[in-house]
Amino acid sequence: MGKIKKIAVMTSGGDAPGMNAAIRSVVRTCAYYSTECVGIYRGYQGLVEADFINLTARSVNNIIHKGGTILKTARSTAFRTEEGRKKAYENLKENEIDALVVIGGDGSFTGGVVFNQEYNFPIIGIPGTIDNDIYGTTHTIGYDTALNTAVEAIDKIRDTASSHNRLFFVEVMGRDAGFIALNAGVGAGAEEILIPEEDLGLDRLLESLKKSRRAGKSSSIVVVSEGDKTGKNVFELADYVEENLPNYEARVSVLGHMQRGGSPSCFDRVLASRLGVKAVELLIDGQTNLMVGLQNNEVQTTSLEKAIKGQHTIDKELLRVSDIMTI
Ligand code: ATP
Repeated sequence: MGKIKKIAVMTSGGDAPGMNAAIRSVVRTCAYYSTECVGIYRGYQGLVEADFINLTARSVNNIIHKGGTILKTARSTAFRTEEGRKKAYENLKENEIDALVVIGGDGSFTGGVVFNQEYNFPIIGIPGTIDNDIYGTTHTIGYDTALNTAVEAIDKIRDTASSHNRLFFVEVMGRDAGFIALNAGVGAGAEEILIPEEDLGLDRLLESLKKSRRAGKSSSIVVVSEGDKTGKNVFELADYVEENLPNYEARVSVLGHMQRGGSPSCFDRVLASRLGVKAVELLIDGQTNLMVGLQNNEVQTTSLEKAIKGQHTIDKELLRVSDIMTI
């Protein structure tokens, strides 16, 4: 691999708060090492279409606190084809780009691995997704902000739940992973937490709600992951509980895309800054096919293949903590 003189950066897949802080970090680290930096708009789609912009240290002024991504993001079907990836490679060569930093989730990393296998093009991944479902890092960029957003929303729902003596089902994001539900559920003091990783069963839900009534609680909050395993969506769950526990008045709140937006938390900004620095330094050092992540509060690397294939598991001890808290 020759000397790295120009690095491109993109955001890909779903957006996450803190992606701008990661872009800023990559751009400024490039400037620090006198390496040119190019931004690619709309992820792999912009790579296929050569939608590039030169970025200097000053191009990323005043973005550290902004949600979303200034480079936009997209899901690209063209990049899934050999023809699309050939075009992408030609565009990189034409613009004398030597290496790529991909900020995104496991799909984005899969695209990077495929591309590296075909063209031996240097790539480093930075985990950016609110779901926290990536192996090799305790935290993905955006997860902490999404958690805080969810907790803040559930706190507000608690006010109305307790004023009306109601039961609220609150759906949070997480089709395959219960990180947001579990941690926001404990953080917001939920009665029950339903996550994809653990099927506690509907009987247990009814039992738990009956128990909390007997214990003198007049309102309850159940946090539900999008991908929970009860076989019922959040509205069906509310109906089911009302049918089986007639003295309950159940309401549903789906938090939805608000969890993706907003100003990144300090934690996410610091994480993004640290990972961006490491990503550029690895490339300059001639390394490739790695993801940078946080382990034991230190920046560590994992091979992109491992990051894609490995399973980031939830801390089941938190379910026990939640159980004890709902006595
Ligand atoms: P999120 O976790 O937020 O969904 P993600 O990075 O997993 O983010 P995806 O939509 O799965 O998001 O992937 C982003 C892009 O990566 C896809 O639109 C596609 O362009 C590219 N990609 C994913 N898998 C492949 C693949 N097998 N081959 C080539 N490109 C791929």
